Amino acid sequence: MTEPTATPVAIPIDPEWQEIREGVRRICEDFPNGYWVKLDHEAAYPAEFVDALTAAGYLAALIPEAYGGAGLPLSAACAVLETIHEQGCNAGACHAQMYTMGTLLRHGSEAQKRKYLPAIASGALRLQAFGVTEPTTGSDTTQLKTRAERKGDRYIVTGQKVWTSRAMQSDLMLLLARTAPADRVRKRSQGLSVFLVDLREAKGRGLELEKIDAMINHNTCEVFIDNLEVPAESLIGEEGHGFRYIVDSMNAERILIAAECLGDARYFIRRAAEYARERVVFGRPIGQNQGIQFPIARAHAETAAAELVVAKAAALFAAERDCGAEANMGKLLASEAAWHAAEACMQTFGGFAFAREYGIERKWRETRLYQTAPISTNLILAYVAQHVLGLPRSY
Ligand SMILES: Cc1cc2nc3c(=O)[nH]c(=O)nc-3n(C[C@H](O)[C@H](O)[C@H](O)COP(=O)(O)OP(=O)(O)OC[C@H]3O[C@@H](n4cnc5c(N)ncnc54)[C@H](O)[C@@H]3O)c2cc1C
Repeated sequence: MTEPTATPVAIPIDPEWQEIREGVRRICEDFPNGYWVKLDHEAAYPAEFVDALTAAGYLAALIPEAYGGAGLPLSAACAVLETIHEQGCNAGACHAQMYTMGTLLRHGSEAQKRKYLPAIASGALRLQAFGVTEPTTGSDTTQLKTRAERKGDRYIVTGQKVWTSRAMQSDLMLLLARTAPADRVRKRSQGLSVFLVDLREAKGRGLELEKIDAMINHNTCEVFIDNLEVPAESLIGEEGHGFRYIVDSMNAERILIAAECLGDARYFIRRAAEYARERVVFGRPIGQNQGIQFPIARAHAETAAAELVVAKAAALFAAERDCGAEANMGKLLASEAAWHAAEACMQTFGGFAFAREYGIERKWRETRLYQTAPISTNLILAYVAQHVLGLPRSY
């Protein structure tokens, strides 16, 4: 990322990418709530949904045209994910391809890009797994313990990851591992490296996966790595600089997840307002009661405010300006707006919110995730306190 320059960055006020939104909306119509309820029940992966989005080219939005993608900016990818969520679907099965892309695009070698990007764009390869979080270090990412040691033309990797989503359904995984001991580096962020691991080769040869039974159907698992041999050409960029590369991906991830939250918020607000207009109790629509309409109206106002910060973050990201503060704040505000909308919707639907066929309880469970992952609310506040307000580091 370059330092801020005098070049002005414009923030769009109207929703962009209407054609994309319309196209995604049409695809989502083929995947109604019943589809997601069944998947939830079976803890299964929405392969048909991912295939439909891939075939239409939406998941390759960020891949440059030279490598078979659409070469669009982050705001277009945000429009795809936001629409998916607004329509009551869930992009969790396929969003990682978009945010891991930044690391590969900005720091991968030409050979790596040629080898992988066209196949990812066509859907022949899935890059949906992002192995960062570890059981013993959690949010303290720079202290992660998975080790990768260079031995000739290979790295030998040993360690453990947790909550690695979609690793069972992905062909490739972006893995963050330590290549220098934590006590030998000058800065906490040094000594980590990024590898593009071919899971098809790794599984059963030093890498094992175990599914986590979770509150939402997110296809997430534990990854056990024991003396896994990874070819040296899997290293992305320079050894020891991985954390810096991943930070780029993390900013993209926060912005894209914030877009999903905005979509969730709109879904809940639309459903709640519709129901509140129609449901008659005590001889009048429940939406006539301020106790019902105010929480929905407040969630709408919060969503509109969050949308502007997210749009600013995406515009700064596209201009390669520093967007850490906006990406984090956008994700914080959007996830809270979505949660408040979810709560308002649950309350508006009364007992029917609990019936699976209405879709509200599923979306309510799903949107709760975003206050914990990919970064928890507290860690965002700590970031803002330290990096924006100049307060002492608290962690
Ligand atoms: C469904 C799901 C999918 C996920 N997918 C992925 C994935 O694909 N890849 C991946 O790498 N990770 C993934 N994660 C992991 C996720 O990013 C982490 O759960 C998240 O970053 C929090 O880490 P933790 O669970 O270890 O919590 P911890 O770090 O143990 O934190 C626990 C709580 O303590 C708080 N806390 C910790 N330190 C401080 C502090 N200094 N000040 C104030 N509060 C603090 C946190 O905010 C949090 O509320 C996923 C998680 C879930 C639940």
